[in-house]
Formats: sequence, C-alpha cells, structure tokens
Amino acid sequence: MSWVSRREVLGSAAVVGGWMLFGEHAALGQETKPAPAAGGVEEGPYHLPPLPYGYADLEPFLSVQTLKLHHDIHHAGYVKGANAAVAELAAIRQAGGAEIKRVRAVTDDLAFNLSGHLLHDLYWKSMKKGGGGEPPAGSEAAKLIKRDFGALEAFHAHLSAAAAQVHGSGWGILAYEPAAQRLLVLAAEKHENMGVWGVVPLLALDVWEHAYYLQYQNKRADYIKAFAEVINWATVEERLQMALKLA
Ligand code: MN
Repeated sequence: MSWVSRREVLGSAAVVGGWMLFGEHAALGQETKPAPAAGGVEEGPYHLPPLPYGYADLEPFLSVQTLKLHHDIHHAGYVKGANAAVAELAAIRQAGGAEIKRVRAVTDDLAFNLSGHLLHDLYWKSMKKGGGGEPPAGSEAAKLIKRDFGALEAFHAHLSAAAAQVHGSGWGILAYEPAAQRLLVLAAEKHENMGVWGVVPLLALDVWEHAYYLQYQNKRADYIKAFAEVINWATVEERLQMALKLA
C-alpha cells in the first residue's frame, strides 16, 4: 500500500468537509513533531503540528492542562483517525469486490477526522499570546468585517451566538466565500456538519467541551467571550489575503 504523497496532499487548495483549505497552510507537514502518540499517529500523510506557542502562553484564558489535553490527546486523535481512514480507503480500492461497499462509512470517518485535524490547526493559529483587540487598521480583515457585518462588535456578537447555539459539540467559524466575495460567520456541528462547499475558514473557535470544560464547566458563553481576547488577527489577514485571490 502506498500513501498519498505529501506533495499531492499539499498541492493546491483542497475541499475537505465542505470547506476549502489551503494545503500549504494547513500544517500537514510540520518538520518539528511532538512525541508520537501510541498507535502510530504520525504514520500517514497527516501530522500533528506543534502548538505555535508554549502551553502556558494563553493563560489565563486556557490553562496548561487544557492545552496539553486538547492538543496532545484530542487533536492527535483526529490526525490518527484521518491517517487511518486514508489507509483504509486505499486498502478498499485495492481489495475491490464487496469491500467497495465500505466506502461510504470510511468516507464519513475521513470527513470527521480530517475536518477535525484541519480545524484544530486553524484553532491554534486563531489565537496568540497578547492577541485580541481589533484587526490592524487598513487590513483586508478590518475592511471586510466592517463591510459585511457593519462593525467589529456585530461580528463578535454573531460569532458568539453561532458558537453558543451549536447543538452539542462543534465550532464557530469566520469564513470567506469566494462566489459572492463575502465574509460569512458559520457554525459546524461535530467537525464537518453544516459546512458550506467552497468557503475558506479564516478563524476557528472550538466549542467542544474538551476545549473548555476543565476551566469553564458549563459556562460555554464565558469561554467564548474570553476567546475574543486572544484572537490572532494576523492569521485572519494572512488567510484572507490568499482567499481574495480565489474570487
Ligand atoms: Mn477540540
């Protein structure tokens, strides 16, 4: 069995789980790898990217323990699941026959785990030590947020409501939609449900309980409110600049 080559995976923008994602910015091939988790998490085309900051850098919004569990255990699990699904689909193709009936189930595994991996990569980049505030004056993010939501406060209110109203586990997402060349606030349930084909996620807010329950318990709204204080606007701008070229 041969893995999909890293070049193929990293090639151009790919549509996964309903969203268009920039392979080269999806941290699929980080060279600095954390200690491999049990079960071969690093075997396959997807790799667990290191956090772009230290475990303590988002204190007090997110504790060291929350980040360690979330990144090293939960995110690693999605990487492992995505690699397993890719391998299983390759095995199914090779076996043919009755095995081909399993494509639907394994594709569902792939959509869940790969969307989980890619959204977590964006989530880590969506925050930084000393982040928050406003997007830089004159940036595309500042301009389009004002144009499409009216004001930064209206964007925050929309994102907070979308994240708070997720049924069960999921995400609040800021995305760029190239067809109408507009920003959208979206939500995802689990990792892949309620997605829109073709949009480019710019910012990801994890509202799975594993992201906040140790510190915030049932107070999801408090966690969501605090997220605004660590937003990394540079990530939003970098991804938006790339997305604008797709229109
Ligand atoms: Mn998570």
